[in-house]
Amino acid sequence: MERRDWDKKERVRKIIHVDMDAYFAAIEQRDFPELRGKPVIVGGAVGERGVVSTCSYEARKYGIHSAMPATTAHKLCPHGIFVHARFEAYKEATEQIFAIFREYSDLVQPMSLDEAYIDVTTNKMGIPSATIIAQEIRQRIKDEVHLTASAGVSYNKFLAKIASDLNKPDGLCVITPKDALKVLSGLPIGKFHGIGKSTEAQLKKYGIHTGADLLKRDLSWLIDNFGKIGYQYYYLVRGIDNREVSTDHTRKSIGKESTFRVDIDDLRVLFQHLERIVGRLVDKISQEEIEIKTITLKLRYENFETLTRGKTLSAYTANYQELIKECRRILIDSYDTNRKVRLLGVSFTTLKHLNAQTWEQLMVEWEKYNDRY
Ligand SMILES: [Mg+2]
Repeated sequence: MERRDWDKKERVRKIIHVDMDAYFAAIEQRDFPELRGKPVIVGGAVGERGVVSTCSYEARKYGIHSAMPATTAHKLCPHGIFVHARFEAYKEATEQIFAIFREYSDLVQPMSLDEAYIDVTTNKMGIPSATIIAQEIRQRIKDEVHLTASAGVSYNKFLAKIASDLNKPDGLCVITPKDALKVLSGLPIGKFHGIGKSTEAQLKKYGIHTGADLLKRDLSWLIDNFGKIGYQYYYLVRGIDNREVSTDHTRKSIGKESTFRVDIDDLRVLFQHLERIVGRLVDKISQEEIEIKTITLKLRYENFETLTRGKTLSAYTANYQELIKECRRILIDSYDTNRKVRLLGVSFTTLKHLNAQTWEQLMVEWEKYNDRY
C-alpha cells in the first residue's frame, strides 16, 4: 500500500491541512437539532444589509455561497433558515479544535477560524504516519466537538491544502510525492490555491485550463507573461512549495546591515548600497508574504558613533519603489555628508503577515467581525 512507501521517506515533510465543513452553519445545526438537514444561512437576516457568512450544504444546493447578500440568498431559497452568527459558540469550538491539533504538534498555523496547517513530521505522539494522525484528528473533532472536518495530507502546504478540498465534506485525501504530478495535472486551473479569478481568466486566454496545460509552459514564458509570480506558478504546478508551517511566534522584524570594507563618504555610493539592502529585504518580505509599516535606518560613522532614524508609513506596503524612496529620504535627512560611513543598515518592523495569521491576529479579526453583526 502507498502509505508505507510514503512513511518510509523520513526526510519528506508531513503536513496536514484541516478545514472544517460549513463551519458556522454546522455549529448551528449541532446546537439546534431542528436545523439539521435544512438550508441554514448564517449571518445577516433578510431585510437587513447583511451578507452570508457561511451556509449549510443543504443551502449550497440552491447556489447560495459565502459573501452573497442575504437578500439574494433569500430569493434563491425563500424557505431557507436565516440565523445570526453566535461568535461565542464558534470561538469555543475553534479553541477546542486547535487544542486537539496542538496535542499532536506545536507547529500549528491558523489560517482562519476554521482552517489550519499542522506540521507533523516529528509529532508529540510519535506517530509515524501523517495519514493516521489526520484520521485521528478528524475522529476526535467528531467525537469531542461534534463537527466534521476535511483533511488533506501531503509533503507541503500547497498540496495539503489542495488535498483537503478534494474529498470535502467529511473527507480525507492523501497526496503522496508519487501522486503529486498526476493530481496537479488533472486539476482545473481555478482550483490552484494562489491563482485568483483574474489570473485564471488570463491563463485560459492562453489556452491553459488545467495543471497539465500549465506544465507545458516554461519558466521564461511564465515570467514574461505574469512577472515575478510566474516563478510561483512554475514551481507549484510541479508540486514544489518550501513554505514552512509558521507558528504563533511569527517574526516581528526583519533587517539587514552591511559593514563596508572601505568607509564611504559619497552619497551616491551609499544610495547604491541602500538599494541593494532594501532590494534583498523586499525579496524576503514578499517571499514570506509580509507587508511592513515601520522603517528604521542605521548609520555608523568611522568613529563608531551610531545613529538610528525611523519612520512609520501611513499604510502597510511591500513595494520596492515606495520603500526605497522613503529610505533615501531618511538617509538624506540624517546623513552628515562631511563624514565617512562604515556601516549602513535597514530594518522593517510593524509587520503584517498576509496569510499566516497568528492566534492573536485571529482573535482581533474576530472582534472586528463580531462588531459588524
Ligand atoms: Mg471551512
